[in-house]
Amino acid sequence: MKTRKLVYEGKNKNLYEGPEPGTLVQYFKDDATAQQGRKKAVLEGKGVLNNRISEFLMSRLTEIGVPNHFMRRLNMREQLVREVEIIPLEVVVRNVAAGSFATRFEMEEGAVLPRSIIEFYLKNDKLQNPMVTEEHITAFNWASPHEIDEIVALAIRINDFLSGLFLGAGIKLVDIKIEFGRLWENDMMRVILADEISPDSMRLWDLRTSEKLDKDRFRRDLGGVTEAYSEVARRLGILNEPQATERKGPVLVK
Ligand code: UDP
Repeated sequence: MKTRKLVYEGKNKNLYEGPEPGTLVQYFKDDATAQQGRKKAVLEGKGVLNNRISEFLMSRLTEIGVPNHFMRRLNMREQLVREVEIIPLEVVVRNVAAGSFATRFEMEEGAVLPRSIIEFYLKNDKLQNPMVTEEHITAFNWASPHEIDEIVALAIRINDFLSGLFLGAGIKLVDIKIEFGRLWENDMMRVILADEISPDSMRLWDLRTSEKLDKDRFRRDLGGVTEAYSEVARRLGILNEPQATERKGPVLVK
């Protein structure tokens, strides 16, 4: 069997050359990292869950016209994605104070923000992903002013849509980190959503109890990490979903 070419080895995911030019295979590992890679663990089943959750959320976003790199899921751990030129920014949208934001402004975790707040961080592990402003981004050419406008518009739309979607599943979307890439189509370039959307990249709290259903369970040694991710998948209706053929349709009552 021909071994495929590893294009990029990430902390939680690998990217392999895809079957056609312009495609990549995104492989979800069970590895979990925190504190800029200093804290590590293997959480059995996490990769499978994140693959499914990301597939589900990217597909829903496609349905409302949010362009993204997801094409289709290939198997338990892999999905086919469009190859993009990654914009080296982590775009964080916050609805509720938590984590480093709560610490920075001495706010109580859980305080609702007056409006959604967007922040940019430079994707650079060596520098520990420093926070950057539009000034830095444009001066160093990480993205153009026009691209920043597109990123902000997409980020607001993604956050609003996912907030509603999770609300319907009894979950509060506290904050989310998203990444974007440049997709070249002939001479045209578009900014599209890339990477993954999973409990590794969002803070998700149970609406009623505020129980954490995300990576903070790993970061803060709360235990039950994959159980929490499974719960998210279950509430989204993507776990143990009956096959189409098994699904019972409405019964006609005569
Ligand atoms: N986040 C992420 N990758 C990172 C840092 C943060 O996916 O390298 C996500 C994190 O899960 C949360 C949001 O971005 O949903 C905001 O995280 P924050 O800046 O509060 O960082 P933390 O408190 O985790 O250091």
